Amino acid sequence: MDKIIEVLSKTDLENITEAILNRYQKILGELHSENLSVEELIEHIVSYYEDIISCMPGNVYWLSKNGIGIGCNKNVLNMFGLKSLKEFKGLSFEAMATVGKWTEAATVSFENDTLEVVNTGNAKLNVEEPPIPHTDGRLLYFLTSRVPLFDRFGKVIGVVGISIDITDRKHMEKELRHAKEYAEAANKSKSEFLAAVSHELRIPLTGILGMARILGDEPMQEAHHKQINDIVTSGEHLLALVNDLLDLAKLEAGKLELHSSPLDLRKLVEEIATMLSFQAKAKNLELLVNYAIDAPQMVIGDARAIRQILLNLMGNAIKFTERGHIRINVDCIQQEQLKAHLILSVEDSGIGIPPEKLTTVFERFNQVDSSRTRRYGGAGLGLTITKAYVELMSGKIWVESEVGKGSCFYCQIPFPLQDMINRPSIWDPYRSQLRILIIDDTLRGDVIAKQLSCPFCHINPGEQAFNMILTAQQKHEPYHIIIMDQQLQSIDAMELGRRIHQQRNLQAPMMVLLMPPSTVEARNSAKQSGFFEILIKPVHPSELLVNLTAAWERWEDKHRATNKSLSIFSDKQPNILLVEDDPIIQKVHTMMLEKVGCKVNVAQNSQETLSMYAGGFDAIFMDVGLPGMSGIEIAAEIRRREQGQRIPIIGVTGYGYEEDRLNCLEAGMDDVAIKPLKPEELTQLLIKWVAKEKA
Ligand code: ADP
Repeated sequence: MDKIIEVLSKTDLENITEAILNRYQKILGELHSENLSVEELIEHIVSYYEDIISCMPGNVYWLSKNGIGIGCNKNVLNMFGLKSLKEFKGLSFEAMATVGKWTEAATVSFENDTLEVVNTGNAKLNVEEPPIPHTDGRLLYFLTSRVPLFDRFGKVIGVVGISIDITDRKHMEKELRHAKEYAEAANKSKSEFLAAVSHELRIPLTGILGMARILGDEPMQEAHHKQINDIVTSGEHLLALVNDLLDLAKLEAGKLELHSSPLDLRKLVEEIATMLSFQAKAKNLELLVNYAIDAPQMVIGDARAIRQILLNLMGNAIKFTERGHIRINVDCIQQEQLKAHLILSVEDSGIGIPPEKLTTVFERFNQVDSSRTRRYGGAGLGLTITKAYVELMSGKIWVESEVGKGSCFYCQIPFPLQDMINRPSIWDPYRSQLRILIIDDTLRGDVIAKQLSCPFCHINPGEQAFNMILTAQQKHEPYHIIIMDQQLQSIDAMELGRRIHQQRNLQAPMMVLLMPPSTVEARNSAKQSGFFEILIKPVHPSELLVNLTAAWERWEDKHRATNKSLSIFSDKQPNILLVEDDPIIQKVHTMMLEKVGCKVNVAQNSQETLSMYAGGFDAIFMDVGLPGMSGIEIAAEIRRREQGQRIPIIGVTGYGYEEDRLNCLEAGMDDVAIKPLKPEELTQLLIKWVAKEKA
């Protein structure tokens, strides 16, 4: 500087002074610049900017493009333990690393990032750097931004770095992480505890419920019957709660997961409806299934999750409805090549939900009000679990409701489709040929008509039905099939059936009666009134189509049924092998099987089972969770040894998980039932696997 000043003329110096004063007037004005030399003026300006930089928070430094230190603020000096800026100037990376005792990783990261900024001319912002030691021994963490410095011609001449100390934040993050891990571990052990307790509770409960049910069927005083009924009802509530808690525990532990596999959704929905039909019947509620004709049937999904969703929603619908109907709808709102967006909805004509509760009912332990809880029971977990399942399937759930009128819960779920979508239904060949009259005065008439989707299908509530049939005959358009509900309001269905049957000049239509579950005598008497086929309500769509087609084919072939007894075992007493190790459950299941007319032999373990299975049994009920060789392994072994006729094996498991079910089926079992077996389920299984075999 001195040299430059020496060679300048007086005029030059005056001009420079003036230029500086003009340019930096504000700064210098505040510094009282009068009578200062050029050198002093420049000193002032430099120290003005250096002061500003010194005060900046964080570490600010600037380097030449070769990474040599040019300037920095006080924080940087402190960090290096340097006394003045002079000591920083000229420091290379290596020197900085030595002075600052940087780690290898930090040195490499600083050098690479600086060179990258120099070479690319682009800033590198908010990089979290490897920690470096402070003079006081602590490790410091920095978040650094590096920005290129350009000359007037746009050439990179250096790099400015600004590093913010985030050490405290890092410590806080670490503490938070630890706290979170600790909370998660605590939650996990709570969930595991809950799962273990729930599981242990299920076993004795199963025994209590089974025994109480059997006792309840014994002849006894009315008052005792009522008390036993109360035990069963309370036991069922407790079991439902235990199951909900098990699911909640899984949900909280993040273990609620899906196991998708190809499934027949229509069949599944119908099975669930059948399971609940007894509860609905006990409250005199109509239970209807409406599976839209355009909704695909063969989808890929988690059967257990769907079962859980529908059981919860339908269970609530039945619980909160005193009269009217429950309807399950499956509708397709959009179908792509291999995906369908379906809406599964459960509608009821029950007490409804007030508008302000429509979203909160999905929260855990949330119920509409305590008076409902007292009256209807429940813990407010069902909808939480249902929602979790729906969301796990990438779906959404919502409810529409009007107090006093009813509610409808909707689950919109995308389902991948199986390749072999919707084979043509067996009903298809008849669809356009047959003329059908449905005599029903409930919503079911519409539902059945939709399922049949025939161009010539009429619905009548009853009174005018006989005239309609006569008129159709006169017009030479006679009805081929008449489907009639047994419980008509305005007319006696059996009487109407007899009239149609006895009408001489009527081309005999095939009459099908829809009956609630009833005695053999009632069914036989319906047959004597002229009904060719009796379908037990709730009649599910696919069941209706299959049964109607089969009946029609038989009717056409004039293979009239010989009024075969509808008792499930008309000829010989079925011989059942029950494999079960728990003595109480053994007793419960034996009594239940004996009650429906079976002869029961018990095997306690794999050895006994394998030595007994070939003894001419009609079916094996196999406990899945046996100690030692499991029921699944025994079933596989039987299938391996078996020669000739295949014995139906029905697995009985404590859990309703789809993977368990699939494992059982894969091992060669034919069906899987969940403990505790209920009498009605047992009957269904026997009809399916034993009566069928014997037919
Ligand atoms: P809960 O075990 O109490 O039934 P949920 O989670 O299944 O628990 O339901 C929460 C609450 O939502 C119920 O207590 C009830 O007040 C209300 N609710 C659920 N479904 C219905 C329905 N179909 N009709 C009327 N209220 C319902």
